[in-house]
Amino acid sequence: MTRRLSVFGATGSVGLQTLDLVAREPESYRVVAMTGASNVAQLAADARRLRAQVAVTADDARLGDLRDALAGSGVEAAAGRTAVLEAADRPADWTMSAIVGAAGLEPGLRALRHGGTLALANKESLVCAGPLLRAEAARFGATILPVDSEHSAVFQALAGERRADVEKVTLTASGGGLREWPLERLRDATPEEAGRHPNWDMGQRITVDSASMFNKAMELIEAHALFDLGAHEIDAVIHPQSIVHALVQFRDGGVMAHMGMPDMRHAIGYALHWPERRMLPVERLDLAALGRLDFSAPDPARYPAIALAYDVIRRGGLAGAAFNAAKEAALDLFLGRAIRFTDMAPLVERVMTRLDPRLEADTIGLDMVLEIDEEARRVARSLAEDTAWT
Ligand code: NAD
Ligand code: MG
Repeated sequence: MTRRLSVFGATGSVGLQTLDLVAREPESYRVVAMTGASNVAQLAADARRLRAQVAVTADDARLGDLRDALAGSGVEAAAGRTAVLEAADRPADWTMSAIVGAAGLEPGLRALRHGGTLALANKESLVCAGPLLRAEAARFGATILPVDSEHSAVFQALAGERRADVEKVTLTASGGGLREWPLERLRDATPEEAGRHPNWDMGQRITVDSASMFNKAMELIEAHALFDLGAHEIDAVIHPQSIVHALVQFRDGGVMAHMGMPDMRHAIGYALHWPERRMLPVERLDLAALGRLDFSAPDPARYPAIALAYDVIRRGGLAGAAFNAAKEAALDLFLGRAIRFTDMAPLVERVMTRLDPRLEADTIGLDMVLEIDEEARRVARSLAEDTAWT
C-alpha cells in the first residue's frame, strides 16, 4: 500500500533523516508536501528526487528562487506561512512535524485533522499546547507518535503496559557540549562552543539547548504532556554516552530501559513503520565494545533550566507556552550575542514571574497560546534590554 506522506521541516536535521529513510523505499510512499525555510536549493533538490506534489518555503522572499529551482519538475512551488498551513491541509496518512520552534504548532494541528499519524519531533508544540494537540488528535481519530528519541524510547517501553503500573519515567541527558567545563567559565561560552554536541548531530538550536539542558527541561514537559505523568513521576539523569535513551520503572520495581546507538533514524523509523518494526540502517549496539555506561544526577547550579520545567508542569495552563516562547527568545538573544549563556535561565524565570497572573487556564486554545507566545517574547526582549546583563 502506498502511503501519502508529508514532511514539515524537510531541510533540517530530522527532516533530512526522514527523507533518507523514505528514499530507501520510494515505492511505499507518495510524497504530498515538503516544507523548508531558507535552504530552497536543498528543498527543491529533494522535492524533485522524491517527486513531491508541492514544496513550500516559509520565507516569502524566496518564492522566486524556489520556482526557478523547480522549473520543469512538475513539483508545485509555494511560499509563506499561509502556504505552509495550506500544505498541512493536503490530506496525508503520515506527517512528520520537524519544524523547529513554536512555528511547528499550527501545521501539526492542521495535519491532525486528516486522522492519520503525526510523527512529532517538534517538541515545542507539545510544550506550548500539549493538551490541545491531544484533544485535536482524539477529535479526529489521529495518532501522535513521539519522535524525540527519549519519548520514542518511553513509548516503546510502555508498549503493552498499563499506565497504572508506571511508577516513574527517567529521561537521559548527555549533559551537552559544556558538561565538563568549570562552572565559572560557563558565562563566557560562545554560541559556537555551546553549539557542538558530543553524541548527536542535530540542528543548532537544539544543540545549544542541550548544553544548557533547556532541551531536557522541554523534554520533561513533553513527557508530562504525552504520557500523563505528574512532576513527581518524571526525572532526568545525565548519561554522557547517550546509549540508554529513557527508562520506565514499574510498581513492581522492574525497569525497562531503551537502548541503542545515538541515531535519530531509529526513532524516526519506528514512527514511520509503527505498529510494525522493520529493518533500519542504524549501527548495532555492542556493549562489550563500549565497555561502560555512566550516570550521574544533573547539578542544579549548572543546569537551572530543569527546576523551571518542574514549575511549568505543576502550573499547567499557559505556563508551557510562556516558557517555550521565553526560552526561544532567550536562545535568539544568546545566539545574537546580546546575552550570555548563563543569562538564559534567569531571563526565562523572570519572564515567567512577570507573566505569572496570566498563565492560569483550565483549557487552552490556539489563540491564547499564540497571544502568550508573542507576549513572552516581547517581555524577554525588553527585560534583556533593560538590565545590565553583562
Ligand atoms: P533544524 O534547525 O535542523 O531544522 C529545522 C527545520 O525547520 C528546517 O527545515 C527549517 O527550514 C524549518 N524552519 C525553521 N523555521 C521555520 C519557520 N518559522 N517556519 C517553517 N519552517 C521553519 O532543526 P532539527 O534539529 O531538525 O529539529 C527539528 C525539531 O525536532 C525541533 O523541534 C527539535 O527540537 C526536534 N528534535 C530534533 C532532534 C535532532 O536530532 N535534530 C532530536 C529530537 C527532537
Ligand atoms: Mg531528545
